[in-house]
Amino acid sequence: MNDDHRRRVPRTDTVLADARLEPALATLGRARVKEIVVAAQERARAGEIAPEAVADEAVAALPPTAASMRPVVNATGVLLHTNLGRAPLSAAAQDALVSAAGTTDVELDLATGGRGRRGAGALSALAAAVPDAGGVHVTNNGAAALILAATALAAGREIVIARGEMVEIGDGFRLPDLLESTGARLREVGTTNRVHRADYADAVGPDTGMILKVHPSNFVVTGFTSSVPAGSLAGLGVPVVSDIGSGLLAPHPLLPDEPDAATELRAGADLVTASGDKLLGGPQAGLLLGDADLVHRLRRHSLARALRVDKLTLAALEATLRGPEPPVRAMLSMAIDRLRSRAASVAERIGAPAEAIECVAQVGGGGAPGVELPSAGVALPVDLASRLRGGADPVVARVEQGRCVLDLRSVPPEADERVVAAVRAVLA
Ligand SMILES: *Cc1c(COP(=O)(O)O)cnc(C)c1O
Repeated sequence: MNDDHRRRVPRTDTVLADARLEPALATLGRARVKEIVVAAQERARAGEIAPEAVADEAVAALPPTAASMRPVVNATGVLLHTNLGRAPLSAAAQDALVSAAGTTDVELDLATGGRGRRGAGALSALAAAVPDAGGVHVTNNGAAALILAATALAAGREIVIARGEMVEIGDGFRLPDLLESTGARLREVGTTNRVHRADYADAVGPDTGMILKVHPSNFVVTGFTSSVPAGSLAGLGVPVVSDIGSGLLAPHPLLPDEPDAATELRAGADLVTASGDKLLGGPQAGLLLGDADLVHRLRRHSLARALRVDKLTLAALEATLRGPEPPVRAMLSMAIDRLRSRAASVAERIGAPAEAIECVAQVGGGGAPGVELPSAGVALPVDLASRLRGGADPVVARVEQGRCVLDLRSVPPEADERVVAAVRAVLA
């Protein structure tokens, strides 16, 4: 390459001053943007691009944001989609999370200057939401809550559990394996379809650390079945732990078969474990509620330190508990008439070939298996499903009966406009 060509390659500072790189300096940092500029200069010096094209090349090479996770619209009709991050946070919870992201008094008592109880606000909000719980604790996720209970109460001892409740929770993870990883031994009782109180009573002995009830949250067994509610297992002389999974703190009128923490505790369960990012509508977290002494034992167990939640989770959880109805609960209870009129409006704004349709949504994500939620949405030609996923503002649809269905029950109403724009963009 001749010297003249090399001399025409702009200097790094000159390129960095290009206005188009300015937002990236804020999101990616000067060092990262500089690397991208230097790479473009190298290409110019190697003769691969014109010296005048260095700034254009650098702008084109910028990643859109510093994080590769992208916001998407969930139009699958599965309200709690694990692959899409489960419950979307309320605006209040998002704000709380952002303000906790800096330096915060998560574990400092500002009045005394001494150590405070970590996440005291979130814990008291949780305790206030479930007055039947003598103690509360929060872990990283539901599985961690279960692991903590199993380790503290049953490591080296037995966990009595019904055969029909030995469930796989997704992505190949199985609760029995998880429980055995704590050093506890599983003592299975009953058969796949039936278990009775006497089965538990016969199995409980001096080596029993706890009885575990697991809500079969992602399947239903029908026909000749029987199971034993956690409450009827109280009085066998060992702690009864109930993994309700979904995180309902109180009964929900639309989900009569879904267990909730208050009812379980009132019936006699000693400890309830649940997830924060399912029907509670909050951040990923594990909730432990119940007997004050048991919760205290769990909280002081050394494993608790490894399962500790961060300040962002605590902030979002508190705001979810104290704030307005979280999006997933609004989606769950949205009236079908409202969904129909949203579907008609979205279909009309898209125009042909969109067609407003009735469909069926589900709770998903380990909650209310078999519950069909009447819904409405928009049907499109099937090939749009992948094109919508690949769009600039990705929309994840459901493919059903040879069509691409956009189910609006899992879409917050304020995102309808994004759906319309995304479809129009791929149809254009
Ligand atoms: C979802 C679920 C879990 C796991 O909870 P995570 O928060 O995903 O770790 C455990 N048990 C039951 C019954 C569940 O539904």
